[in-house]
Amino acid sequence: MLGMVAGGVTCRAIFGRHSEQLREVSAIIKSMLEVQMSEKMVSCPKCGAMNTPTKVFCYACGGILSALAIKQRRIHKQHVRAAVQAVVVLVVLCLLGIGGLVLWPRQGALGIPGTPEHARQTALLLSSFNKMDSDEMAIGRDVRESDLNGYIRHLRLKKLPFDTLSVDLMPDKLSVRVSNKLVSWSCRGYCLVPTLSRDFTLAVSGSVIIEEAALGHFPLPGFLARKSFARLLDALQGTPELDLIAKAQSITIHKDRLHITFGGD
Ligand SMILES: [Zn+2]
Repeated sequence: MLGMVAGGVTCRAIFGRHSEQLREVSAIIKSMLEVQMSEKMVSCPKCGAMNTPTKVFCYACGGILSALAIKQRRIHKQHVRAAVQAVVVLVVLCLLGIGGLVLWPRQGALGIPGTPEHARQTALLLSSFNKMDSDEMAIGRDVRESDLNGYIRHLRLKKLPFDTLSVDLMPDKLSVRVSNKLVSWSCRGYCLVPTLSRDFTLAVSGSVIIEEAALGHFPLPGFLARKSFARLLDALQGTPELDLIAKAQSITIHKDRLHITFGGD
C-alpha cells in the first residue's frame, strides 16, 4: 500500500515534470509560428484579420489592406509581365536571326562570273596601266564585268577578309555584294552554310553615292550603310588596285563594262 502511494507520487512527479517541459516546448513552437505568420501575413487595418500578402481586400471584412500589400502585389505582377516580355522578345529575335541568316542566305555571286583566264587577262591589263605613257593611258581601257569578277574571285580575294565579293554592272550603276560564311555545318550529305552578306548599290556620277544597302535581306538605314561601306573600303585600302582606281581620271559605267582612263588632259 505504502509502495503504491510512493509509486503514485513518483509517477506524478515524473509526469508533472515532463508535462511542464512539453508545455514549454509547445509554447516555443507556438511563438515561433506566430512570428513566422506575422512576418508573412498582412493584418487588416480595419478588423485585424490576418490576410495573405497577395490579397488586396480583407477576406473577413472586405476592407482595403495596407499599401504594402498592394505594392507587393503590383511588384509581383510587374515581374511576371517583364518575364513574359523578355521571353517574347527572345523568341522573336531568335526567329528573325534564324530567318535572316539560314532561310535566305544571300551567298550567290552577283553579275557574270569570271574564269581564271579572265583573272589572268585583268591582271595583265592592270599591270600594263602602270607601264603606259600618258597618251596611251588617255585613250582608256574597258574592263568587263566577267574580267572584274574573275579577278576578284581568282586573284584578289585570297588577301581580303571576305569569302566572296562580286559586282554587277548596270548602266550608270553598280552593285557590290560582300559575304562571309559564318559557319559550315554538314550532316549526312546535307550542307548548311549560313552567310552574312552585305549588298551595296552605288551610283557613280562624279562621286560614288550609296543608293541602297542591305544586310542579308534586311535593308540598312543610311548611317549604317555608310559605316558598312567604309569598312569595305578600309579592307581594300592599301591594295594596288584601289591605288590605281584612285589615280584614274575618269571611270564610266556602261552595261557590263567599266571604261577607265588615266592621265592625259
Ligand atoms: Zn478586415
